[in-house]
Amino acid sequence: MTNSTQHAIVADFVFDGSALHRNTAVVVEGPWINFVVPLSQLPQDLPLHKLPEGAWLAPAFLDVQVNGGGDVLFNNTPTPVGILTIANAHRKFGTTTFLPTFISDTPDQMRKAIEAVAALVDKEPSVLGIHLEGPFLSVEKAGVHDPRALRRPTDADRTMLAQSRKGVMVVTLAPEQVPEGFIRQLAANDIRICIGHTMATYQETRAAMAEGARGFTHLFNAMRPMATREGGPIAMALVTPDCWYGLIVDNVHVDPAMLRLALRGVGYPMLVTDAMPPVGGVRPNFALYGEEITVRGGRCARRDGRLAGSCLDMATAVRNCVKLLDVPLEHALPLAAGHPATFIGVGHWLGRLAPQFRADMVGLDPHDVRVLETWVAGQPS
Ligand SMILES: [Zn+2]
Repeated sequence: MTNSTQHAIVADFVFDGSALHRNTAVVVEGPWINFVVPLSQLPQDLPLHKLPEGAWLAPAFLDVQVNGGGDVLFNNTPTPVGILTIANAHRKFGTTTFLPTFISDTPDQMRKAIEAVAALVDKEPSVLGIHLEGPFLSVEKAGVHDPRALRRPTDADRTMLAQSRKGVMVVTLAPEQVPEGFIRQLAANDIRICIGHTMATYQETRAAMAEGARGFTHLFNAMRPMATREGGPIAMALVTPDCWYGLIVDNVHVDPAMLRLALRGVGYPMLVTDAMPPVGGVRPNFALYGEEITVRGGRCARRDGRLAGSCLDMATAVRNCVKLLDVPLEHALPLAAGHPATFIGVGHWLGRLAPQFRADMVGLDPHDVRVLETWVAGQPS
C-alpha cells in the first residue's frame, strides 16, 4: 500500500465534494489522488502534511468565466504569458482551474485567443480550455461588449469553431442572433453552449436547449428579465433539471433575494467570478476596448457607470454564499467545483476528492472562508 512517491495531506475536516469527513487524509501520488482514508488507517511511513487545526480540505475551485487577473485582461493580452499571469493571480483565491474568457472582439483577436489557450492546454494544468463570450450576442443586451464587434456567425466563424482543438470550449451566445441549426452544429462538435447577453423569449430559449444549449451565462445579468407573461431565459434556467447557470455572487451584480431564488432552481447553479484584471492585481484600473475601467466600492465600472465584469475572486464568492445567502459551506463549495466540472465535461476527474481524481485541492479556514493553501495537480502553490 505504501510507496515512496506517495504523500498525504491531513486535515481535521475533509470535504470530498459531497460529504464532510473528520480526521481524514488524502493520499496523493504525482498529480492524482490514490485514496481518501481516516487518519487512523493511514500507513505510518507516508510523508504527511497537516493543515492547521480546524481547517477544511476541499476540492479546489473551477471558474468557467475569468476575463482577467493580476492586472492582465485576456482580451488585451491573448498570449500564453497573459493566461499564465491570470492563472497565478487566481490561484491564491483557491481557483486552480479555469477557462480564460474572451469577450466579443475581431475575428483576428479571437483566433489569437484560441491559439494561446491551445498552446497551454496540455502543458499548464490550470488551463482547461477557452470560454468565448460572444460575439454572437444581442446588441440590446451587449453590456460592456463593444456593439461594433457583435455579429451573426459567418462562414469563417463556423470554420474557426469547427476546427479540431485541444481542451474545452464554451461559447456564450444569444439564440436570436444565430440561425436555426447553429447551436446543434456546435454542440455536435462538443462545444458547450451558454445562453447569455440575450433578449431571447422563453420559447426561443426552449428551442436553443432543444438544439443542445445547456448553460446560462451570469443568470439575471444582461438578459431579458423575467416578466409575468414572458419568463424568458431566467424562467427556463430555473425549471430545467439538466442545465447549469452561472451566478456572480458579489453583492453588486444581483440582489441577494434573486440569488436565493436562483439557488432553488432544479438545475445546477455555478459560481463564476467574471473577474477582471484587478483580481489579484495591484492597479485599481484597466483598459477595456481602449476605455478606462475603474474599481470603486467593489465595482468595476465604465465612466458612465455601466458594470464591466467584477473584481470578485472565487473565495469571496463562496464566502458571500455563506454569509449573505446563508448557504452552509458544504453546499456552497460544490457550486465552485463539482457543478462547473460536470458542466464542462471534466467531472469524472476534477471537482471531488476521491481516488482517480486529480489532486486539485484547497485548504480553507471555514469560519471566514479564507484560503490557506492550494494544490494544483498535486503540487503545492
Ligand atoms: Zn457578460
